[in-house]
Amino acid sequence: MNTNYHTHCTYCDGKDPLEAFVTEAERLHFSQLGFSSHAPVPFENEFGIKEAQIPDYCRDIDQLQTRTPIQLLKALECDFIPYMSTTFETFKEQYHLDYIIGGVHLVRPKNSDRLWFIDGHDREIYDNGLTQLFDGNVKVAVTAFWEQTFEMLETQQLDIIAHVDKIKMHNQHRFFQEDESWYRALVEKAIQLIHQHDVVMEINTRGLYKKRCDAFYPSTEILMKARKLDIPVVISTDAHKAEELGLYADEAMIELQKCGYGNVVSFDTVKHCFR
Ligand SMILES: [Zn+2]
Ligand SMILES: [Zn+2]
Repeated sequence: MNTNYHTHCTYCDGKDPLEAFVTEAERLHFSQLGFSSHAPVPFENEFGIKEAQIPDYCRDIDQLQTRTPIQLLKALECDFIPYMSTTFETFKEQYHLDYIIGGVHLVRPKNSDRLWFIDGHDREIYDNGLTQLFDGNVKVAVTAFWEQTFEMLETQQLDIIAHVDKIKMHNQHRFFQEDESWYRALVEKAIQLIHQHDVVMEINTRGLYKKRCDAFYPSTEILMKARKLDIPVVISTDAHKAEELGLYADEAMIELQKCGYGNVVSFDTVKHCFR
């Protein structure tokens, strides 16, 4: 069963309109396709959908639904930023969304309202943020990322957690190693919280096909731990173009099998949840 619940169209920072994704999904024989524009955040930005456009976004998806046998789903990828972001539940209820993908792309240091952008194509922004916001202390910086992830899991209603260990992307084994004990302890806590809060984890292929990372998000080690706790998974390509809809999905399936997973979950349109 082919699905993808993590896509970005021209309503946010994606490069293709909604209908191009539907056409590509039909070509790939998808059963379900979810749209997950970046949610608005309370400052000027280039990546998020404008709040005033969310009703149009939902209406366009409803209209496309009348023309395709694929089940189309409405979602947002919400950023969690302490004391700043709108609660996920607010978006879900206000716009009658099917699900919410929650993720951390902007890390807020303690006692500061400046933000460390850990995503995007520019490694220099990551490196500069590390120096300027955390005095180059990678352990403090990376811990802040994970603690923000914990707080998101403890305070927000999310259905899928996005790219759990995105923090490794621009690190590229330079400042910290993923097998260091302090890092492993943070990962362990995140997995426990994902399990406790019944959140679906995605295996995200974008780092690989954009050649920004040499591994899936999350790592094999995290997937193996998640499997032991029976944390449900979906395969996401985080597509920002229609042609990215199926990239590395087969490889992700093989990776999941290697980690002991026998299946991925899909969205139950009757119960209105992933199971
Ligand atoms: Zn994301
Ligand atoms: Zn995304």
